[in-house]
Amino acid sequence: MKYLLIILLLISYPGHSKGVIVPSDRVKSSVVLRAEPSSNSSILGRLFPAEEAILLNAVPYYYNVKLADGQEGFVSKAWTNLQSNTSAELTLTFLDVGQGDATLINCPNNNNVLIDMGTSRLPKSKTIIDIQAAFKSSLNNNFTLQSFIITHPDKDHYVLSDDIIGDIPIENVFYVGEVADYDADSINSSGSEFSHWFSQLGANFIKPTSDYYDDETQPNKLIDCGDAEVHILAAKTPPKASKPTWKTNANSIMVMVRFNDFEAIITGDATFSGENTVLARYDNDWLNVDLYKLGHHGSSTTSNSTAWMNALKPKIIIGSSSISNNYGHPRQSVIKRATNLNDADEHDVITGHYDKNLHKSVIELSKSNKEFYTTATNGNIVVVTSEITSSGYIVKY
Ligand SMILES: [Zn+2]
Repeated sequence: MKYLLIILLLISYPGHSKGVIVPSDRVKSSVVLRAEPSSNSSILGRLFPAEEAILLNAVPYYYNVKLADGQEGFVSKAWTNLQSNTSAELTLTFLDVGQGDATLINCPNNNNVLIDMGTSRLPKSKTIIDIQAAFKSSLNNNFTLQSFIITHPDKDHYVLSDDIIGDIPIENVFYVGEVADYDADSINSSGSEFSHWFSQLGANFIKPTSDYYDDETQPNKLIDCGDAEVHILAAKTPPKASKPTWKTNANSIMVMVRFNDFEAIITGDATFSGENTVLARYDNDWLNVDLYKLGHHGSSTTSNSTAWMNALKPKIIIGSSSISNNYGHPRQSVIKRATNLNDADEHDVITGHYDKNLHKSVIELSKSNKEFYTTATNGNIVVVTSEITSSGYIVKY
């Protein structure tokens, strides 16, 4: 499948149609509605400036539309503009929070689901105010978080919650561990602890246990994302006995999002034990996804195993980390695990490797058969799954 890399102006529209078609600015009299997608075909009606038609389908060079009077036919794409309907789409925004994670899911029913909000090092060029502005402008217009999933109690996954989310209402909070665990290194800009903010949320608090997971056919009942489905694949996975210090990361809540043909997996800092748990739990064909946000910011030593990558077979890979982190995130070896798969298409992508002398990751441009984006190099990354573009998903940054 081929992907479009374009900037799309999204205009919010009520209802659940695919979108509307309007005459372009250069139309002086009207756009003809034809019986077939051809300029030789008979004329059935006209679309005048200031009028709009409902989009039924997109075909080469023409939109199949329905006029206000009910007449259906085809109008030329050359003389019309598409106004997308954001409420019928799923949008994933990977906010650039530096060395950390913050993923906002805009659901087709206008709900917002946030996965993590933290950093251990802000981006060099951004302040908390910049991040808050990006977050607020990315929210669906209900201005509520229907669900907030905090994958695990490491500060790069929660410490910005108070400052960025503030008093925006939250209906459901999913988290693991004890609230006190989140105070370990939490300080907001006013100096108060995470538990203070957490305690006054008035939300429904849910703590998935190690044996909890959603069935393939049953998305999570508490996470209402409209026509999109959100599954919790695993949580609180015990770490390997030989790696007890990986306990906090291994606790990560692992999530899958599905909408029409689009599937994405987001795993916080889950380790190999979480990946293996999910591989054992589910039909591996079901785990084959379009988008994968690299686990643990692209660590090769704790996460993103070859077996996991081979099962997921992601087409779009997202890395969330700062450009000058000391961990070499995302590791080039992880990218190799993902890109050594047998896809035919080659793309220009940005990869990185860990330079032992510089003690940081080095970003470089190379060829891969995957689309790979990182917040470090691309900033905020927005992925729009559109019902309209049969050619694929729109990635903008
Ligand atoms: Zn992390």
